[in-house]
Amino acid sequence: MRIDILEMEERRARFILRDATPAKANALRRTMLSDLPKMAIDKVEFHLGSIDVDGKDFESVTPLFDEVIAHRLGMVPVPTDLDLFTFQEKCVCEGEGCPSCMIMYSLNKNGPCTVYSGDLEPLGSPDLRVKDEHIPLVELSNGQSVLIYAHAVMGTAKKHVKWQVANGVGYKYMPVVTVRSSANAKEVEESCPRKVFDVDGKNLVAARPMDCILCDSCVEIDGGKSVSVKGDDKNFVFTFETDGSLSAEKALRKAAELISEKTKAFADNIGEMAV
Ligand SMILES: [Zn+2]
Repeated sequence: MRIDILEMEERRARFILRDATPAKANALRRTMLSDLPKMAIDKVEFHLGSIDVDGKDFESVTPLFDEVIAHRLGMVPVPTDLDLFTFQEKCVCEGEGCPSCMIMYSLNKNGPCTVYSGDLEPLGSPDLRVKDEHIPLVELSNGQSVLIYAHAVMGTAKKHVKWQVANGVGYKYMPVVTVRSSANAKEVEESCPRKVFDVDGKNLVAARPMDCILCDSCVEIDGGKSVSVKGDDKNFVFTFETDGSLSAEKALRKAAELISEKTKAFADNIGEMAV
């Protein structure tokens, strides 16, 4: 199995998975969806009562229930350094919470204002500031305030979607587009919703075969006399995005590492059973 990168942006990637099978392609898809680890806010402490700011009294009330604000905080993508953080249950602190398994944020705002994700202040390195600063959390009126301490811990999407790193993870069989005749060149070119074909002089050319979605519109023009289209079930065009907690490159590397570990553990277990 091999990966050839077509596009690699900070939060988006497109690549070809070569010499694979549909089962292997799906294993990679499912690993990216459910097994990638990331940090997300899991515990939120709200200050209750009045807060005095420079002689003015604010009440810790908001138009939203506390649990709604806690849920919104949970869904904010938290930057995750996989070399720095680990799962609490695997940490040397044995789950008590320490800088290796937990990030603490404070949120202190007084109305009138809109509270955004960018108002979360990490206690520690400024690298832990959330990257999407404009996610609205709650709107405060005059005299209202929030004072919150939030703890982010590592998890995976198997437990809750707030720990889902990758989304829009999908693949298609690699399109194999073969031009057989240019007799109906114009009709074939116009039939394609993805503009795969060009007409060069009178010749029909499959100029952008990777854009093909195997819809067969071009084949239906004349029953396949002009063009044949097949999906190659050993090579796959993959796309995915991340929520920004991990870069696309790190997410892909981690997914490949997880598959490798899992298959090795499975092979070892089978080996033990055979003995
Ligand atoms: Zn710890």
